[in-house]
Amino acid sequence: MARPVVAIVGRPNVGKSTIFNRLIGDRLAIVEDKPGITRDRIYGISDWNGTSFSVIDTGGIEIDGEDAILKSIRVQAELAIEEADVIVFMCEAKSGLTNSDEEVAQILFRSGKPVVLAINKVDNMKRTEDIYEFYSLGFGDPIGISGSHGTGLGDLLDAVTERLPEPTEEEYDDDVIRVALIGRPNVGKSSLVNAILGEERVIVSNIAGTTRDAIDTPFERDGQRYVLIDTAGMRKRGKVYENTEKYSVMRAMRAIERADVVLVVINGEEGIIDQDKHIAGYAHDAGKASIFVVNKWDAVEKDDKTMQNFENKIRDHFLFMSYAPVVFLSALTKQRLQKLLPVVQHAAQQHALRITTHLINDVISDAVAINPPPTDKGRRLRINYATQVAVKPPTIVVFVNDPSLMHFSYERYLENKIRAAFNFEGTPIRLFTRRKS
Ligand code: GDP
Ligand code: GDP
Repeated sequence: MARPVVAIVGRPNVGKSTIFNRLIGDRLAIVEDKPGITRDRIYGISDWNGTSFSVIDTGGIEIDGEDAILKSIRVQAELAIEEADVIVFMCEAKSGLTNSDEEVAQILFRSGKPVVLAINKVDNMKRTEDIYEFYSLGFGDPIGISGSHGTGLGDLLDAVTERLPEPTEEEYDDDVIRVALIGRPNVGKSSLVNAILGEERVIVSNIAGTTRDAIDTPFERDGQRYVLIDTAGMRKRGKVYENTEKYSVMRAMRAIERADVVLVVINGEEGIIDQDKHIAGYAHDAGKASIFVVNKWDAVEKDDKTMQNFENKIRDHFLFMSYAPVVFLSALTKQRLQKLLPVVQHAAQQHALRITTHLINDVISDAVAINPPPTDKGRRLRINYATQVAVKPPTIVVFVNDPSLMHFSYERYLENKIRAAFNFEGTPIRLFTRRKS
């Protein structure tokens, strides 16, 4: 099920990133344990009363020239209108209502998108009175919050989740592999789509997906049905801010959520940059199968070590995605292109793989016999049993005497043993520890 997207919009310094960090706080803590994920997150996944959604802080889009601040918040607003299901429009009580708040409000208002108006920096009782002037913006009750104290966030989250769309029906049969191509502009995503399909099919076979203006391209190869997700979004071009990182990440988020397998396309000529990491990190967090596709391999001067060296670099940069295979190819010359779809198919199978409880427990018993759980203040973790509770990605719950005794390193150890036993190439797996009651 695709997670809905929530965007935070507002002028600089109202506290967007402070609130963003609070909203994804718990998740961040988990992810940060893993080396290789950078700290300056620009997206995250948040949960509220069992509803999961993606959050993006659209702040920090830089536009030069006169009226730069105003222009950049306009761009934020447009981006949010295009890509988000619910917009959190943030103002602040300290400085009160400003002209640029009113401008942004007009853009948001005309869009008809659900908007939740949050007034930050309501740090004390006196400030609660300051929120009344914001009624004039026309978005209903302003919600007073404080990023410093964390107050009002429950009300904000209630208002956001109330406005999220109902989950939509699955758009495709279960045997269709949904593939998203993501990556920075100019890495060759469109060329790769054309190369996969053969030029003539791109135009004729696009169908409108049920998700707003997404255009998906279905095709069949060797008896397997695939659909390329949101290939139209990829072709949208020409706006000055298209190159900004937030724009690409936000576009990619939606496609990733709808996909089973994500092709992280990297320009082989240029190597890896931080932006690649952010996008790939999102695919990982969202629990999707991933494949690194190093494109433009025709343009790289090679010797017998070039490929291995490049792969090593990918492994260094994406430590948290060691499961993802790497495919080198050229969309231009179609060199090695035929290697791609079999890898996609395999990753999709692993992503949907279901292991019997019996087999999982055999592996866990062996793992525990070789390397018993360490004791903590004289108490030892005891594992009762484990069972797979979900696919896409494979999710395993380990029932134990006391979850607080399960340390990150031991969980990692079990995960590695499970991976070694069942492969799971291409897909992240999730391990949860629960108390056996
Ligand atoms: P952004 O530019 O909208 O992302 O704003 P930031 O999150 O970077 O916050 C701007 C400034 O406001 C920082 O100095 C924050 O510490 C401060 N700030 C954030 N939330 C609050 C709040 O609830 N009360 C007060 N007094 N300051 C806050
Ligand atoms: P996108 O922005 O990621 O969709 O990238 P495009 O598909 O538009 O490609 C960007 C540029 O890279 C174009 O000029 C392509 O001709 C070029 N390009 C794409 N794939 C390859 C490739 O495999 N080899 C070479 N040498 N150039 C390529």
